Amino acid sequence: MTNANQKLIEAIDLRKEFTVKMKGKGRIREVKTLKAVDGINIYVNEGETLGIVGESGCGKTTTAKLLLGLYPPTSGKIVLGDRDISKLDKKQLKDFRRKAQMVFQDPYESLNPRFRIKDTIMEPLEIHGIGKDKHERYELAKEILEESGLKPADQFMERFPHEMSGGQRQRVAIARALVLDPAFLIADEPVSMLDVSIRAGILRLLRKMILDKNLAGVVISHDISLVRYTSDRTAVMYLGKIVEQGNTEELIKKRYHPYTQALLEAVPNPDPELKLSLQKIKGEAPNPVDLPTGCRFHPRCIKCMEICKSVEPKEIDMGHGHKVMCHLYGGDKNE
Ligand code: SF4
Repeated sequence: MTNANQKLIEAIDLRKEFTVKMKGKGRIREVKTLKAVDGINIYVNEGETLGIVGESGCGKTTTAKLLLGLYPPTSGKIVLGDRDISKLDKKQLKDFRRKAQMVFQDPYESLNPRFRIKDTIMEPLEIHGIGKDKHERYELAKEILEESGLKPADQFMERFPHEMSGGQRQRVAIARALVLDPAFLIADEPVSMLDVSIRAGILRLLRKMILDKNLAGVVISHDISLVRYTSDRTAVMYLGKIVEQGNTEELIKKRYHPYTQALLEAVPNPDPELKLSLQKIKGEAPNPVDLPTGCRFHPRCIKCMEICKSVEPKEIDMGHGHKVMCHLYGGDKNE
């Protein structure tokens, strides 16, 4: 989909653990560790989008917050360009915050209901000292609003969020994220709160903005069909691990991991080729504070073997950067 190959952001052996206090009869009975993100390696090139897909609770949003520097990692690192973001000083951190922006799931909650649209978009410009005066900031806000499909912008600048539809609000949220001219954009379930009829328009806008502005984009979703529509590469996440990643079309076609197969099974697909060898998934995801031994997908996997119950699979490179974590492909397969 794109020729970009300049790595902009990379997570290296990234981990995030939380301490969870388990209560019983009003008392804390046990303190456990929740491994929300458990040693992931992902990267995003300039001008491309990485999709991160998985069920809720798999660690997608924690990954997004780590990539944005909103959580400190427990271990591992995030490198932006050639800089480890945990080592940035105050000024560099402010600059990073401008470069890394997020579009949230809920456009009803992410916009301040008391702010007019112009104020919503001009506020980040003021915070970061962009534009020499109010007039220039107003013009910048108008420009990005029109780029986001709200034209003519004058019709929208004076409105409050409640005077706009869900799709229009999400366009405002995208405009607010992009007005700072970021290098990196994360969209967390960007259309899941929107009416089905307007989802494609928002996804097209995100895709266009990422390509036109040569951003590194991350789209997070529970829906693999949505990620297919928006992303050059896809990482499938299950209970804190990336179990498969690679070029999106290749990943969907080959779908080595039984969990990827199961996610595709959940999507009604008009492509008969894609209906081959689809697998069912068993039961609910286990509690992340009580991870299964061995492969953490084994209690739900219809291809589970004896080894899967005790030995955690290693990541195997299947070629062309397509990686999978599953015993079905051995420990040294490298085609
Ligand atoms: Fe299934 Fe075993 Fe592969 Fe895990 S390692 S996904 S249990 S076949």
